Amino acid sequence: MNDTPLQNKILIVDDQPENIRLLMDAVDEQYQVIVAKDGPTAIQRTIQFLPDLILLDIMMPEMDGYAVCSALKANETTKEIPIIFVTAMNDARDEEKGLKLGAIDYIRKPFSLAVVKARIYNHLKLKRKTDMLEKMLCMDGLTEIHNRKGFDETLNRHWRASIRSRSPLSLIMIDIDFFKKYNDRYGHAQGDKCLVQVAQTINDSVKRPQDYVARYGGEEFAVLLPDTEQQGALFIAEKICTAVEALGIAHESSQVGDHVTVSLGAAAMIPNKGDVELSLINLADTALYKAKENGRNRAAH
Ligand code: GH3
Ligand code: MG
Ligand code: MG
Repeated sequence: MNDTPLQNKILIVDDQPENIRLLMDAVDEQYQVIVAKDGPTAIQRTIQFLPDLILLDIMMPEMDGYAVCSALKANETTKEIPIIFVTAMNDARDEEKGLKLGAIDYIRKPFSLAVVKARIYNHLKLKRKTDMLEKMLCMDGLTEIHNRKGFDETLNRHWRASIRSRSPLSLIMIDIDFFKKYNDRYGHAQGDKCLVQVAQTINDSVKRPQDYVARYGGEEFAVLLPDTEQQGALFIAEKICTAVEALGIAHESSQVGDHVTVSLGAAAMIPNKGDVELSLINLADTALYKAKENGRNRAAH
């Protein structure tokens, strides 16, 4: 069982301290254990720590395990966290109810430590696989940065956060100049290599942990800069423009120079409730069009 990484977090929820102690014996030392003694605390700690697995007691005063499970399954950020009910209730209908609420497993008390251990191990393994697949769905196979799906989801998340915090969200749209001519001149395989290099350079040009780079489509990339005003976005856009040109990738068929260049459009918004993400994309697209019109190899806003 030692292929389980240290960072796996397990939340144990039970109103009886002796039950928590008992379950902690079933949880291997390599897991990080978080405990909660009531429903509201369980929900709060789940949101705070995002555990990989939850062991949830059903019978608790005030808010029972079913209510905790329902609340976690209704929350976008916690709904995928596997929940195992650990309970003294041994009616098949209770078990059915738990499973129907979205729990992945149901363990009856008194339990065998070895069985609980094995189930925890199996569910964590499955969770790691699901997480990996989920991640891969958002990755672009060629450039190894995020893809359009990842971008759409991330934009939506930052958009909602921006509405809540009333802080500006910036977007830079980037398009390689005369890339069709590049493919025509050097072939698609070389074109693909160029895309990888440009993607890497864009990725290296942003520094804050919140900043986000994705391949938007074909030879277009997008950069999301949360908490950033238009001026800051334009600064980053110009930095990317310079960095791509400095790669010095030969492009003899380009009409703006001897090297591969990009055009960039930067836009910022403090969105209001009811505004749609498309409005920011359109603003950045319009700016990108302006950069193309003004001669390419430049940024516009
Ligand atoms: P502009 O300066 O106006 O942007 O001209 P452009 O030629 O870059 O723009 P256009 O949209 O006409 O062509 C984009 C090209 O990008 C067409 C296509 O061959 C190329 N492309 C898109 N995806 C890929 C890819 O995955 N690999 C390669 N090699 N080329 C791609
Ligand atoms: Mg294009
Ligand atoms: Mg292009």
